[in-house]
Amino acid sequence: MEPIVGIDFGTCNSCVAAVVGKQVCALPDDGRTTLPSVFAMSDGREILGFAAKMQIISNPYQTVTGIKRILGRPYDSPEVQRLKREASFEIFRGDDGGVRVRAEHLVLTPVEISARIIRHLRKVAEQNLGEPVRRAVISVPAHFGDAQRNATKQAAELAKLEVIRLLNEPTASALAYSLRDWGKRRIAVFDLGGGTFDLTLMNVEDRFFEARATDGDSYLGGTDFDYEIVRWLVRRFREAEGVNLGTDRTALLRLKLAAERAKIELSEAHETLIDLPAIASATRGGMHLSETLRRDQLEQMCRPYVDRCLEICERTLAAAQTTVHQIDEVILVGGQSRMPLVARSVRDFFGKESRADVLGDEVVAIGAAAQGYALGSAVPPLPSREGGAKHRAGSRPPSREVRPPPGQAQVQADDAVLLLDVLPMTIGLEGPDDTFVPLLLRNETLPAETRHVINVAETERGTLRFRVLQGEGHRASENVPVGELVLEGVETDSSGRAKVELRFRVDANGLLQVRAWDRASGTRSFVTLESPLPGTPSRAGAGR
Ligand code: AMP
Repeated sequence: MEPIVGIDFGTCNSCVAAVVGKQVCALPDDGRTTLPSVFAMSDGREILGFAAKMQIISNPYQTVTGIKRILGRPYDSPEVQRLKREASFEIFRGDDGGVRVRAEHLVLTPVEISARIIRHLRKVAEQNLGEPVRRAVISVPAHFGDAQRNATKQAAELAKLEVIRLLNEPTASALAYSLRDWGKRRIAVFDLGGGTFDLTLMNVEDRFFEARATDGDSYLGGTDFDYEIVRWLVRRFREAEGVNLGTDRTALLRLKLAAERAKIELSEAHETLIDLPAIASATRGGMHLSETLRRDQLEQMCRPYVDRCLEICERTLAAAQTTVHQIDEVILVGGQSRMPLVARSVRDFFGKESRADVLGDEVVAIGAAAQGYALGSAVPPLPSREGGAKHRAGSRPPSREVRPPPGQAQVQADDAVLLLDVLPMTIGLEGPDDTFVPLLLRNETLPAETRHVINVAETERGTLRFRVLQGEGHRASENVPVGELVLEGVETDSSGRAKVELRFRVDANGLLQVRAWDRASGTRSFVTLESPLPGTPSRAGAGR
C-alpha cells in the first residue's frame, strides 16, 4: 500500500506523520518534527518553515504567518479584517473580491499560501520515506465550516495531494491516545491551539470511535493571549515614555514575538523579563522597553479567554446531554493548553486531572496518519505516474531509518479502527424575511443526509436560486454563507408551479453535496453550489 500521510496543518505549526512498519512516526525536517506554518519571500526566493520564521524580524512585510486563520473566509469577514489589522504583511481585496496577500512581487490567495506550506510537508515526508507521497489525511479544526474544509482540500490538491479524509483535529488526538490504550470510555478532547479552540466529546469502545458533540471558536487561541501581553506592553510604554508603539508595525512585531516567548516562559517560571532594546524607532531616540511580567498578571489578563473556552465546554456537554461526571477522561491538546491556568481550569471544570503532552505537538498528525493507515485498505490504488512510485510501501524500506523522535511515545497503527464524526454546524436554507430553515442539525453523525421539497409559484426561466447557510443563528443573516444553490432546467406545471426535491448530504469529511429532482417530471435538475468565496470554483454538476 502506498503511504497515506497524516498532516496537521496548524495556525502556528504544522506536522506530518506516517506509518512505518506498524509504528506511527512524526517525520522530521532537519531533526524537528513541528515546522512553523510560515511562508516568506526573500530576494525573489520562496522560503518556508524554520527558515521563513527565522527572518521575520528582518523581513516582516514579506513574511506570512497565521494564514489558516483566514483560509476559506470572505474578505469582509471579521477573521480577515482582524488579521489585516494585526499582520505585518499586506492583505487586500483582489479584483474578483477575494482575499489576496502580497509578498514581494507575488500576489497569492490564502489557498495558494496554504498549498505551499502543505507542499513543504509533502516534501519532508518524501525525503523521510524515500518515495513519492500522493495521498493524505488532513486534520481540520472540528468546527471548520464547509468553506474552510473545501479551502483546505483545495490547498492540499494544489500541493499535489489527494485528500483521503478531512479529519477533525480533536478526533485525531483521541484516536492517537486510544491507540495506546484501548477500552470503553467517554472522552472530552480540549484542544486550544494557536488560533482556534475546540471541545469534542467522544465515545470510544474497542476500535469504534464515535464523536457525540463538538463546538468551538475559530478565533480563540494562543495568539489572543499574546496580543493581551502586547496591549499591556504598549500601555505601559505609553504611560512611561509617552510613545505609542501600537502604530509602529515593526515594533508591534517585535512585541508580539517577545510576548509569546514570555507567555511560554511563564508556563514554567513565575516571572519573566521582557527586554527589548531600541524598541521605538531611532527618530524617537531608540528607547528601550524593559518590563517584568508575573504569572498571576498574565493569568488575570487571559482569564476571559479561558472562561470563554469553559462556556463552550458547558454548551457542548449540554448538547450531548452529558454531565462532567459522565466523562471518564479529559485529553488536553494544543500548545496553549500547556499554560498552567488552562490546565488548572480544565481540571476544576471536569473534576479530574487530564492526560496531556504524552504525545506532544505531534499528536494530531499521528492520529491523522493512523486514520490514513486504517482507511488505506479501503481506497483503490492510484495509477502509477511517470517517474512516480514504482514500489509499494510495504515492499521497500524507507531511504533513511524513520523512528519516532526521542521522547515521543510509541503508537501502533491499527487497520480495524472505525471512526464516526459529527456535523460541526447546522446547515440550512435562507427563507423569506431573513428566516433560516435548518435542514441538517449540528452534531448529527456523518455522513448525514436529508430531503427537502420546495414548492414555488414561479421560476426565473426555469432557474431557481437558494442561499445555503451554516450556523446556529435563528435568522439567516446571523449565519455564514456556504454557497448559492442554482437549479437549472426546472420544469413548471400548467399553472406555472414547480416542485423540486433537494437532497442534502454531508459526507464523512464534513463537505456538503446537493442533488435535485424535479418532482413533476421525475428528472434530475442540474444543480451547482456556487461558492461565496470569489475565485473559488463552484461544485458544479453536484446534482447529476
Ligand atoms: P498549536 O497550534 O497547537 O501548535 O499551539 C500553538 C500555540 O501554543 C501558540 O500560541 C504557542 O504560543 C502556544 N504554546 C506553545 N507552548 C506553550 C507553553 N509551554 N505554554 C503556553 N503556551 C504555549
